[in-house]
Amino acid sequence: MRKLIAGNWKMNELRADGTALARALASQPPDHGRELLICPPATLLAGIAPLLAGSGIALGGQDCHPDPKGAHTGDISAAMLKDAGCDYVILGHSERRQEHHETDELVRRKVEAAWAAGLTPIVCVGETAAERDAGRTLAVIGRQLSGSLPANAGARPLVVAYEPVWAIGTGRTPKPDEIAEVHAFIRAELAKATPDAASVRILYGGSVTAKNAPEILPIAHVDGALVGGASLDAHSFRTIALSAGD
Ligand code: PEP
Repeated sequence: MRKLIAGNWKMNELRADGTALARALASQPPDHGRELLICPPATLLAGIAPLLAGSGIALGGQDCHPDPKGAHTGDISAAMLKDAGCDYVILGHSERRQEHHETDELVRRKVEAAWAAGLTPIVCVGETAAERDAGRTLAVIGRQLSGSLPANAGARPLVVAYEPVWAIGTGRTPKPDEIAEVHAFIRAELAKATPDAASVRILYGGSVTAKNAPEILPIAHVDGALVGGASLDAHSFRTIALSAGD
């Protein structure tokens, strides 16, 4: 399975800088060994989509509403993301779980909405520092997986991202054996629910940089990375992608 290197731009970049970043990424030679994905803010999606044509870089949203349309001021539907040129959507990011009080049940409904619109959801799970210190990492991730994934998850396009909350934007990462333990656990949990577990990509996210990517990406069951801060620099993002091997 080709590794997926996904950039989560979060709430960064106005049109000029976002467009320049997308152009810089798209002008690099196509990377057939890995799949690249960028998830810019919603305002930039439709403008960036044509810039990526022929580059092999996919486009994704950062969230969607569980309903297909209607009276939800300020929200964006999965079909709107698809219409803007997206193939993926990040769901249940810890920043949304914390700042917008998103529950596993809400994330599960958003996954259904993403599928209905023809998007591949990237479902984020991860423990807080307190949960890791209390030895509850696997229990928390098991609960998030069973609550956030619909029963038929493996039969539909799906990516899971393991993102320890304490590693996001902090410069701290788990040790390689800790990442390996969680990714093997996620694979085993998926296998309990679906015969297609092997085809689900499991990304690691949390302070991935050009420097630590060569250590993280070869770990067993790490099928790519979800990159925040370092995805805002074309050279860093490219370097991370190239360290994913073929
Ligand atoms: C993220 O928020 O998805 C993320 C991984 O952020 P960072 O790489 O900046 O830690």
